Amino acid sequence: MKIYIGGGTGFIGSRLSKCLQNKAHEVVPISRSSGKGKITWTDVEKIGLPEKCDAVVNLAGENLMNPLRRWNAAFRSDLEASRVHTNKLLAKAIASASKKPEVFVTASAVGYYRPSQTAEYTEESPGGDFDYLSRLCTDWEQAAKLVADINVRQAVVRIGLALGREGGIIKTMYVPFFLGLGGNVGAGQQWFPWIHVDDIAGIFVHVLENKKVSGVFNAVSPELATNADFTKKFAAAMRRPAFLPVPELALNLIYGEERAKAMVEGQKVLPQKTLRSGYKFSYPDLQSAVNDCVK
Ligand code: NDP
Repeated sequence: MKIYIGGGTGFIGSRLSKCLQNKAHEVVPISRSSGKGKITWTDVEKIGLPEKCDAVVNLAGENLMNPLRRWNAAFRSDLEASRVHTNKLLAKAIASASKKPEVFVTASAVGYYRPSQTAEYTEESPGGDFDYLSRLCTDWEQAAKLVADINVRQAVVRIGLALGREGGIIKTMYVPFFLGLGGNVGAGQQWFPWIHVDDIAGIFVHVLENKKVSGVFNAVSPELATNADFTKKFAAAMRRPAFLPVPELALNLIYGEERAKAMVEGQKVLPQKTLRSGYKFSYPDLQSAVNDCVK
């Protein structure tokens, strides 16, 4: 297949691209910047999709946890444009393409589900309507929707906390944990809906290649864990102590309350439909996943 990937240059996008290329698929990133082997969002806006395009994936998104960006209207506008606007562009390009791709898969996030210590969420559970980030997920997913008479298979992958050496939470926490300055976030009892980045890539490949699957898939590991479980296992993998909790107040100051909530609260999310559709996890347990991240 020839697959166009919005955000194909990022942490998850590069891992997915490598996975697809290993399976002899051809991959073309859609990026803000032009370069060899890429197309830009401006190309998509002006010209539409190239004629030979078998699948479209969107993993574009301004980094929500960038500590250098303040939580203000300009940042929120970038969060929205990079997800909602890019999905709208792709949906429009697919709708007007004379030869349609077979499948369109967009990323979303488990922030769709309301944080709770007790509720369990599957792909069928309600959500997406209780705070800024959950509404962003709804708008992100809605923007990708094609009208019913367009015969293109569609899927949404709601991603949990991605574990991998090159990005996400591990990249942020590596140095503090290496220096023995790691610890729980807040009380540490909040759910930590983790997944190894290889499994995120694996789920996207599974959805792209499997003509029978469509709809929402939770990209989280089947092994449930709390933030304290993650801290203990990551510190063990690093062979370092981890006794210094990160206070909620400090996170509120750095990230702003709305964003900090994504770290101090968590959801118990199950990959029910992902497993039922036949996906087999490469890293079903947290210790082997974090061990791989510190190799
Ligand atoms: P990265 O930040 O590594 O990469 C995202 C890509 O999006 C970048 O390579 C960039 O591509 C593009 N991008 C960044 N900012 C903008 C912008 N303002 N406008 C348009 N494009 C932009 O993210 P990840 O790979 O970690 O995540 C991929 C997607 O998965 C994101 O949408 C993210 O929200 C979502 N997700 C990630 C999780 C995680 O733990 N990592 C958890 C849940 C969801 P370029 O520079 O080529 O334009």
